[in-house]
Amino acid sequence: MASISSGAGAATLRRDFLGSALESRPKHAIPLGRSIIRASKSSPKLPNRRLRVAVIGGGPAGGAAAETLAKGGIETVLIERKLDNCKPCGGAIPLCMVGEFGLPLDIIDRRVTKMKMISPSNVAVDIGRTLKPNEYIGMVRREVLDAYLRDRATASGAEVINGLFLQLDTPQRPNEQYKIHYTHYDGSTLGGQRKTMEVDAVIGADGANSRVAKSIGAGDYEYAIAFQERVKIPDDKMEYYQERAEMYVGDDVSPDFYGWVFPKCDHVAVGTGTVTHKSQIKQFQAATRLRAKDKIEGGKIIRVEAHPIPEHPRPRRVLDRVALVGDAAGYVTKCSGEGIYFAAKSGRMCAEAIVEGSENGARLIDESDLRKYLAKFDKMYWPTYKVLDILQKVFYRSNPAREAFVEMCADEYVQKMTFDSYLYKTVVPGSPLDDLKLAINTIGSLVRANALKREMAKLTL
Ligand SMILES: Cc1cc2nc3c(=O)[nH]c(=O)nc-3n(C[C@H](O)[C@H](O)[C@H](O)COP(=O)(O)OP(=O)(O)OC[C@H]3O[C@@H](n4cnc5c(N)ncnc54)[C@H](O)[C@@H]3O)c2cc1C
Repeated sequence: MASISSGAGAATLRRDFLGSALESRPKHAIPLGRSIIRASKSSPKLPNRRLRVAVIGGGPAGGAAAETLAKGGIETVLIERKLDNCKPCGGAIPLCMVGEFGLPLDIIDRRVTKMKMISPSNVAVDIGRTLKPNEYIGMVRREVLDAYLRDRATASGAEVINGLFLQLDTPQRPNEQYKIHYTHYDGSTLGGQRKTMEVDAVIGADGANSRVAKSIGAGDYEYAIAFQERVKIPDDKMEYYQERAEMYVGDDVSPDFYGWVFPKCDHVAVGTGTVTHKSQIKQFQAATRLRAKDKIEGGKIIRVEAHPIPEHPRPRRVLDRVALVGDAAGYVTKCSGEGIYFAAKSGRMCAEAIVEGSENGARLIDESDLRKYLAKFDKMYWPTYKVLDILQKVFYRSNPAREAFVEMCADEYVQKMTFDSYLYKTVVPGSPLDDLKLAINTIGSLVRANALKREMAKLTL
């Protein structure tokens, strides 16, 4: 299988909880040429200046990180290559993100309360039945959300630079600054101006193809390729998607993921993804369009986009005073392909660790400060990642298993558990009796799925 490469020294890696490799490098160690120097436990006070941190990338991870840093007294610079970037994305966000990040309701295009899960044989199950009146899945356009978060970072005191990060020179001595090389698009020169900048720490929030990850030899991850078309459909058809989103499962739309129709302000986003059969992505996209044909007929494709989605965290997410967050770190859940909330949360958590470790910008930080962010993030979200990983392995492996999955989704208890987990980002403890019923139903569904698979195999012999 292909993977996104960031040139890690894979020889020193062990496995982490999600099955991805982890570095076994000692903590508090700074590479100096070929030798290793150990950083002191308490980092030095900064004379007559505040800690200076560069955030590379202005998506949800970068915007959230920069805002938290600036609010915490850190001199913050955010470098974003494209300020009107329209990240290819379904734009679905959980309800808790609206509250936790204080998002104004006018940047949310749609509030989805009806999520239709559609099986390979087109059995449709509505999985929003247990939602309370004030609960919904938010649908945003990324160009709107990202700009909003960046503007808030600016308002908090961060400097936002329109520039392309090129490379990072690591310090040759402990406590020295990093040198960032970038192209500054200041409008004065065609193609921008090459510049450098010195900073004490760097947050890599530059997405799946992260150059910061490459700079620190962060290593590879598997990735899915996701393809999406934005389709402007007639108003009467748009009415159907007013509060509704659809997820299609089946070998036709993706061998290992799902196809979707997500509503936006005046159009729908139709897409699909795959890890295992990347070269056939256009064929899966055509199949998704075909499945939704009746509902999007007469629509005009206004934008076509594709982008990688990381499958698991990178082998290395922190090195010295450089940390990766969001897609650059690899924080997208399996099964649902969700990454916006985890990007913003990891950006914020990483920035909080820097603010705390530097005593609001008065001290230099070291790797142990950044490792606190990793420990907190992993502890908080490990169950969510693990559950979704297992769900994908069990239910996305064949059409009969997907039929079983959709059948299971009709159960109100399953709906409540999955929706609560999605909306509030906690793996909700259930009731023992209902859990037992669910286990029996699941086994029943899987037995039926396997029986069906055997019958289908006989038919094709
Ligand atoms: C088709 C598709 C559909 C998806 N649907 C959903 C969904 O519905 N819900 C969900 O939660 N997640 C979804 N995801 C995943 C989600 O898009 C990502 O997890 C999320 O965008 C990660 O945010 P980020 O800030 O880490 O990275 P990004 O959003 O990728 O932001 C990185 C930023 O860095 C900038 N940048 C990159 N390189 C440089 C450089 N060298 N110099 C300066 N700037 C740079 C980019 O311009 C960009 O603005 C989807 C992904 C895809 C591909």
